[in-house]
Amino acid sequence: MFKNNLKITHFVLLMSALNFIFFHLPFFTFVFDNVDYKSLNGIVLVASLVILMLVLNAFVLYLIFFLSRIVGKALLVFFFLGSALAVYFINTYSVIIDETMVGNILNTNYAESSSFFSFKLVLYVVLLGILPSIYIIKVKIINVKLKRFLITSSLSLLFIVVLIFANASNWLWIDKNSKTLGGLAMPWSYTVNFTRFYIHQQQENKKEILLPDAKILDNKKSVVVLVIGESARSQNFSLYGYHKNTNPLLSKIPNLYHFDATSCSTYTTAGVKCLLEHKNTGDLYEILPNYLFRNDVDVIWRTSNWGEPPVHIKEYEKAEQLALNCKGDGCNYDEVLLTGLKDRISASKKDKIFVVLHTSTSHGPTYSKKYPAQFESFSPVCNSVELGKCSKEELINAYDNTIVYTDYILNRLIGDLKELKEYDSAMLFVSDHGESLGENNLYMHGLPMSIAPKEQYDIPFIVWVSDSSKELKANKTLTQNHVFHSVLKFLNIQSPIYDENMDIFK
Ligand SMILES: [Zn+2]
Repeated sequence: MFKNNLKITHFVLLMSALNFIFFHLPFFTFVFDNVDYKSLNGIVLVASLVILMLVLNAFVLYLIFFLSRIVGKALLVFFFLGSALAVYFINTYSVIIDETMVGNILNTNYAESSSFFSFKLVLYVVLLGILPSIYIIKVKIINVKLKRFLITSSLSLLFIVVLIFANASNWLWIDKNSKTLGGLAMPWSYTVNFTRFYIHQQQENKKEILLPDAKILDNKKSVVVLVIGESARSQNFSLYGYHKNTNPLLSKIPNLYHFDATSCSTYTTAGVKCLLEHKNTGDLYEILPNYLFRNDVDVIWRTSNWGEPPVHIKEYEKAEQLALNCKGDGCNYDEVLLTGLKDRISASKKDKIFVVLHTSTSHGPTYSKKYPAQFESFSPVCNSVELGKCSKEELINAYDNTIVYTDYILNRLIGDLKELKEYDSAMLFVSDHGESLGENNLYMHGLPMSIAPKEQYDIPFIVWVSDSSKELKANKTLTQNHVFHSVLKFLNIQSPIYDENMDIFK
């Protein structure tokens, strides 16, 4: 089979078969879980999908290789390496490679991507990617004459069309599951979705839509600190009724409120955008820090994360910069964002201050690396990047420790704000999205909202206010867009865009 000289027809069939065997276990696992494969119709559907996949992929390769064998080989090598990576992620994290997942991957920085590195990943890449690539590069492919090419390709095309129409009764099923099927069909899942992602990003990269000017109504000194949580889900906060004590400090603080809330999305870029905008749209409106900065508020952004919409302010600081002035073991973790913050606020020349701390504490897969050792309240913990390998208890322990650490950071921040006696101050903690921890065999986040489980979008919305600053309404379920209007109100800023219904304060 693996000869040194192969006719083009044999070669593309061989490649299509390898692509099928190597990369489509998740695809057909999904199919078998979702069709009644004991019924006649089920058998026809599964058989048709197998044949269609084999013929269609061979057909596409046939076209490409007939035109240029060099381009064909380069593409195939790229596809085998890409599919090896994709299937590793699908098998390890139960994700599908759709457009939002592509967004996640592209917004992952190096520190995070290296935390995905594992021996299993190397195995996947070598066995399913590099070995077949060596063969693909070495093999000699014998091309056919134009006449033969035209006959073969028209017959294949006819066969494909007939097969598709013979399955008309299953179109509805395929349409219903197209998102998942498309996300699991290699190499098209990532090829198509990377392209779609770039096209959409180009459209979105147009300038943000400016909001009408705002006006500061008084000169009472006030400050709001918005802490953006990363992958924090409300059900693991004891404030929200969790049976383990993950909020030993916050639970003792007066003036602290928590509300049920849902995120707009299950991934960082969209979650953070929604947290900063006045409404949930596909457009890019002027985000809160940019809006306040343009309207004369002192705005500070500090981050150990990434993926926010473009921030146009003077003071944008990354954790690494802040670490230069930070002392102690905690400087490698998210508490670095608090470095000198209290002094920075009290030194401000403006009356109204807005601070954003974009944290990364509960980001997977290596939860156990996101907090200093003394916050390991629950053990044993999962240390592997392959979450499926850890026991459920180890995984949840590690995640819960990130919540304990978050509890500590928020408590320390509130302590700092309390010392700023001349200020009315508020702290809002809202997560960008939730997280799956093995429920229904799902891990991490990023599923499309239409099929995402509630673990991925039930988020904490925690509010603290200084004594006699503001009272809170009896809020029911909040959204991320409540942040925008509530901050305007707290800082007493008048804006035509302000919506009283979206304000958590009285
Ligand atoms: Zn996130």
